[in-house]
Amino acid sequence: MASLPPSARYVVIGAGIHGLSTAMHLAGRLRAKGATVGGGKGADRIVVLDKTGVGAGASGIACGVVRNNYYQPAMRELMAHSVSVWERDPEAYSYHPVGYMQISPEVMRAQVGTIYEQQKAIGYESVFIEGESESREYMRGLFDYWQAASITSVLHEKRGGYANNLAAVEGLARKAKALGVEIIAGVEVKGFRAANGSSAISAVETNLGTIACENVVVAVGPWINTIWNILDLPKQIKVKGRDGTMHDGVRMWRYMALQEGTLGVDPNFQKTNDGRMPPVIHVDTDAPLHSDRDGKLITDELWGLYYKPDFHFNGVQGGAMPAVVEPDADVVRVDPYGPKSPEFVVTDNFADMWTSALAFCQKRFEGQHGVYRQEPSGGIGCFTPDSFPVFDRFRENVYVIADSNHGFKMIGVGELVAGELLGESSKLLEPFQFSRYAQGKLHPVSKSPFPWS
Ligand SMILES: Cc1cc2nc3c(=O)[nH]c(=O)nc-3n(C[C@H](O)[C@H](O)[C@H](O)COP(=O)(O)OP(=O)(O)OC[C@H]3O[C@@H](n4cnc5c(N)ncnc54)[C@H](O)[C@@H]3O)c2cc1C
Repeated sequence: MASLPPSARYVVIGAGIHGLSTAMHLAGRLRAKGATVGGGKGADRIVVLDKTGVGAGASGIACGVVRNNYYQPAMRELMAHSVSVWERDPEAYSYHPVGYMQISPEVMRAQVGTIYEQQKAIGYESVFIEGESESREYMRGLFDYWQAASITSVLHEKRGGYANNLAAVEGLARKAKALGVEIIAGVEVKGFRAANGSSAISAVETNLGTIACENVVVAVGPWINTIWNILDLPKQIKVKGRDGTMHDGVRMWRYMALQEGTLGVDPNFQKTNDGRMPPVIHVDTDAPLHSDRDGKLITDELWGLYYKPDFHFNGVQGGAMPAVVEPDADVVRVDPYGPKSPEFVVTDNFADMWTSALAFCQKRFEGQHGVYRQEPSGGIGCFTPDSFPVFDRFRENVYVIADSNHGFKMIGVGELVAGELLGESSKLLEPFQFSRYAQGKLHPVSKSPFPWS
């Protein structure tokens, strides 16, 4: 059984992408300043606690898409930093820099055009194609028989791509341990002790006892609602709308189910015309979608999908828009998580929609729905009121990293948080402070059918 040290300067809760990236970068920064990281006398001890183990949460099941394409300038700048972190050690992070494509209908063209302009301004390499026939021609240059309808722009990001979920977090864990970080599995945080007369946390209570600490980092992904409640943070908040109206009593956390699956074809099936591994494809369109099984109309509203060939999933893997989880966050059963959940795995409706959407885009996927892999997949995520992250300090010494569940790509956030823990302040993290809700400093909303774009 795992044992807990009596104290640590930094206790990180959660061994996913954020907890491990923060711990690794913090250890690196402390060592660069001449400190010793580890359990010895006079050392700075960094302990990562996880109730299950490395990659047991959303990070271990994520599709792993890494992109810059966000309509919100602050998101784009943050992502450009994260992509540069992925690029520092692609091997350790199992990162595949194949690029990323946002393929869009007319209703999104202008907004995606501004993304392209701003990518140019921040030096993030991309190509923007406009016009229906120009877009089709560009796509057919990559894939013969590309056939997606109602597409009038293509943004092709030359950087980004995807990383293999578990391999990436295991790579981070290895690097963190090599720098002196201790990762302890099987330790569930159940409470916090506050210092006398202050709201700061002086110790973390777990199933294996109490660990005294000076700083806490909370990086618990979909479990944030539980830890938020234990920290006594508000279940409901004030949000100042874009029109200046104050909305009281807005629920801080809500759940959505991320729907993903795998088509059981050889990943090489999706190579480009010139035999290369293709960029990650994301298509949004307002063309009606009919079932590739029986021709029935699936939707005539704006819809979207993403996909990539992936040897780790052994097929073409991807997903579509998330499904709303109706019950209040306090009654949603997060455990057992991901594919082990009896409630929140994808249904046959998703399989029909997603395989039909693949066939809608590329002729090579027509009639392939029979090889969709019938296995539990997908997982729930916990979302903020605006579906964008909250990165902020609470109760004086608790740093919360809550990425609103599109944060696998945000590997660089840990580096920025490590800087803040050491007294710096990050311009990139500032737009994600909790106070933005009450102050009405909200991120712009895009026309994408996805809540996180
Ligand atoms: C199906 C799916 C696909 C996704 N695809 C993408 C994608 O393509 N690109 C992208 O950018 N994002 C994607 N995401 C979102 C992304 O996976 C998450 O935003 C990100 O992994 C969250 O990382 P994290 O480190 O905050 O949390 P997690 O990876 O969830 O890790 C949290 C850890 O905390 C531990 N924990 C929880 N409570 C406690 C406690 N009380 N005590 C101790 N330990 C605890 C858990 O065991 C877990 O290991 C996807 C998510 C899902 C579900």
